[in-house]
Amino acid sequence: MNIKKMNIWQEIDNAISESQRELFTTETREMLSGGDINQAYCLSNKQNKYFVKINTVTCESMFLAESQGLNALDSTNSFRIPKIITQGVFEDKAYLVLEFIELKTTGNTFEFAKALANLHLKTHTNFGFESDNFIGLNLQKNNWCENWGEFFINHRLNPQLKKLEAINSIGQTTKLLDNIREFLNQHKPKPSLVHGDLWQGNISYLNDGMPVIYDPACYYGDHEVDLAMLELFGAHEIGFLKQYQKHHAIQPGYSIRREIYNFYHILNHANMFGGGYVQQSLTLINTIDHLL
Ligand code: ADP
Repeated sequence: MNIKKMNIWQEIDNAISESQRELFTTETREMLSGGDINQAYCLSNKQNKYFVKINTVTCESMFLAESQGLNALDSTNSFRIPKIITQGVFEDKAYLVLEFIELKTTGNTFEFAKALANLHLKTHTNFGFESDNFIGLNLQKNNWCENWGEFFINHRLNPQLKKLEAINSIGQTTKLLDNIREFLNQHKPKPSLVHGDLWQGNISYLNDGMPVIYDPACYYGDHEVDLAMLELFGAHEIGFLKQYQKHHAIQPGYSIRREIYNFYHILNHANMFGGGYVQQSLTLINTIDHLL
């Protein structure tokens, strides 16, 4: 008997069929660009289209975390969020299938500001999240914590600094971290649901201009972390903060906190890509030290 071996594409077609309770057979498979980390594809036939991300099996937990984040974002009814279709593992690969959305790079930025403010209105009693997740390829711990300064030092800055220190000489940072902790604790934000990795590559628009966000690293934290990242790597337009503030106030001291919050992302980039980001991290250590 000739038993034909299944491949990952047949496995994904089967998984989609099972989740949708309707037979799906890919007729066209198109490789997509734009992602940082995974291989992305559009699978389609005459009736349906799906967005698929594939990576090595070690990324299974990354896809699980992404699904949890997408579900949390979707529960706020603020942005259009891709629906999760299915996910799984086949041999040495992990995959995540999402609803395919036709995306545009430009759209209504007023609606974006309003949706972001609405997302941030979802709050929790503590800082953290239901599970750990990933920022790029690096683990992001989300253990629940009552204190924002503690959370940001213990689960954001310190793990990245330790990683960077292991291969680069960055000097003593204990005093700096103590000062940051104290500064953040004077601020006392509410734990808001944040996207957590809100750069231009994770924001798009529908044909009617309404905003879509994806690829999150969600947690409950200071809502300003998303604003800061938008200023660092985003399609940040003049007037955006003004629009946002019509719906959600920004407290004094944001311009200093912005440097602290973005320090985390620069450290993460230094740990992932090295190069100029290491120097930028060292510069930020001095800048923040002078600001506090
Ligand atoms: P990665 O995890 O590799 O960074 P992304 O989730 O950012 O991948 O997706 C890569 C690109 O695919 C995005 O920049 C976007 O253009 C597109 N994309 C993401 N989600 C969808 C979707 N649900 N439907 C259609 N295109 C999508």
